[in-house]
Amino acid sequence: MTKNKIPAAPSIRRLPSYLHIIRQAQSDGLEYISGTVIANELVLEPIQVRKDLAITGIIGKPKRGYPVGELITAIEHFLGWDSAKNAILIGAGNLGTALTGYQEFKNHGLNFVAAFDNNPQKTGTQIHDVPVYSFADLKPKLKNLNASIAVLTVPSTEAQSITDNLVEAGIKAIWNFTNVKLKVPEDVVVQREDLTSGYAMLCVVMGKAY
Ligand code: ATP
Repeated sequence: MTKNKIPAAPSIRRLPSYLHIIRQAQSDGLEYISGTVIANELVLEPIQVRKDLAITGIIGKPKRGYPVGELITAIEHFLGWDSAKNAILIGAGNLGTALTGYQEFKNHGLNFVAAFDNNPQKTGTQIHDVPVYSFADLKPKLKNLNASIAVLTVPSTEAQSITDNLVEAGIKAIWNFTNVKLKVPEDVVVQREDLTSGYAMLCVVMGKAY
């Protein structure tokens, strides 16, 4: 898939929840599932579900719906969840440690092969069986790790300078859990997952609702 053909982010974001429902249908023994059933479950319009699923290349059959097994394979393939990906963690603190232990990532092929930290008390230890190395050793260690993704869980104040180091070391995909909008060259992909902005949203909505 070329960069300018990437489907809209909301469609991609909905696919995991479709997958969850379709897997449930499979474990209930169903061979087909209709777009309407998925839509009702998620309170979406059926047309939206059909459009989203079409990006995986699977078209439903009139009256029967989608073949469950094929649909699961197609979504997993589209998401890249059917192939393993090595990741490194930068910042072996509380959030980073939690992410390395999260089973759902492992189920989707995300494999943490190393963590890097600048705290000498952390280097040389392990978090969830992942070795923690000194950040100063990033470049030489990276050569043998075959890692395509860097997961960033350092304090926000450190995020940009660490990112500059990651880019220089050849990292092309960064999953950014800090609240900094990182500046990177065009060929580097950044996905920002700012948990504090999610919490801010919750607080404001909660404040208006009660
Ligand atoms: P802890 O208090 O155990 O360090 P924490 O989650 O509260 O955990 P943070 O201050 O959020 O820690 O930092 C996250 C991690 O990032 C820590 O392990 C810290 O040592 C590491 N870290 C901070 N600055 C850098 C840096 N410049 N390079 C690499 N790692 C860093």
